[in-house]
Amino acid sequence: MIDLRSDTVTRPTEAMRAAMARAEVGDDVYGEDPTVAALQDRVAELFGHEAALFMPTGSMANVLAVRSVVAPGQEVLCEASAHIARAELGAHGAYSGVTMRTWIHPRGQVDLAMIQGIFAPEMGPFFVRTAAISVENTHNFAGGAVLPLADLRDLRDYATGVGAAIHLDGARIWNAHVATGTPLAEYGAVADVMAVCLSKGLGAPVGSLLVGSRDTVDEARVWRKRMGGGMRQVGILAAAGLHALDHHVERLADDHAHARLLAEACGVDPAGVDTNIVVVPRGDAAEFVARAADEGVRVATVGPTVVRLVTHLDITRDDAERAAKVLAGLV
Ligand SMILES: *Cc1c(COP(=O)(O)O)cnc(C)c1O
Repeated sequence: MIDLRSDTVTRPTEAMRAAMARAEVGDDVYGEDPTVAALQDRVAELFGHEAALFMPTGSMANVLAVRSVVAPGQEVLCEASAHIARAELGAHGAYSGVTMRTWIHPRGQVDLAMIQGIFAPEMGPFFVRTAAISVENTHNFAGGAVLPLADLRDLRDYATGVGAAIHLDGARIWNAHVATGTPLAEYGAVADVMAVCLSKGLGAPVGSLLVGSRDTVDEARVWRKRMGGGMRQVGILAAAGLHALDHHVERLADDHAHARLLAEACGVDPAGVDTNIVVVPRGDAAEFVARAADEGVRVATVGPTVVRLVTHLDITRDDAERAAKVLAGLV
């Protein structure tokens, strides 16, 4: 089976497992795991922020990041198909008392005019106040679309002017970095707080980080424990993340090339495929998935009429070419 359902299906390589086996560890709830500390310091520095905090999932990193800038009863604005709105099961409302309003963009982009149109400044005791604006780069359900740095900078200027924070869901920020050559610190500079994942394209088995100021991270550490996310000798997992940062970032370019190959095979314009995700509109999405599986290619639906293909570390050039042949046949 060639598995294109998600870039989360990767298995740790032998070299990654060896790095995990060698990891120096300690009790991270006591702040004594040197490998976790090394990973946190390295990721904070990559994005030009003061500190970072290792998390079991990207969802927890997003929940704690958003709550760090949005008080209960306040709102965050995001694009309508953002992961925080669609795929975190209402966690921001259920745990943090945060409400959301959304703007819509078919490619998940910043639409400053729409954001300005729905932004709610402090207006006294009768209205919800917008405390933060959230952006997702790359944008998952918009097919791995990159948000251009110029748009993020314009949003930064606007948000600063109106006193709102910016949250960046950077689960796949590595893909945006490799696709555009934009330094990670440039993305970091537009955000007050961000979340990044190690277990997507980077191929680690587990792990995400919240990135922000020292104060934000100190507070998030308390909330992580409160929510049951305090972990002990977790340097074993952090070692996988450090290994991934050393060996699995630049190779994301291969995933992007494979995605364009698959797009072409599916009749999707490869010029619209920025990174490692291909969205294929299919009226018969469920049937298409079943027929592909019959021929050895696993793909997924992300809506009744949308098929999604995702390339990753475990897909070789050969796999991509074989899958392209199968999918072209079905199309
Ligand atoms: C995968 C993902 C996350 C985090 O997901 P977890 O499964 O909780 O690690 C967050 N944002 C986006 C855009 C994602 O694709």
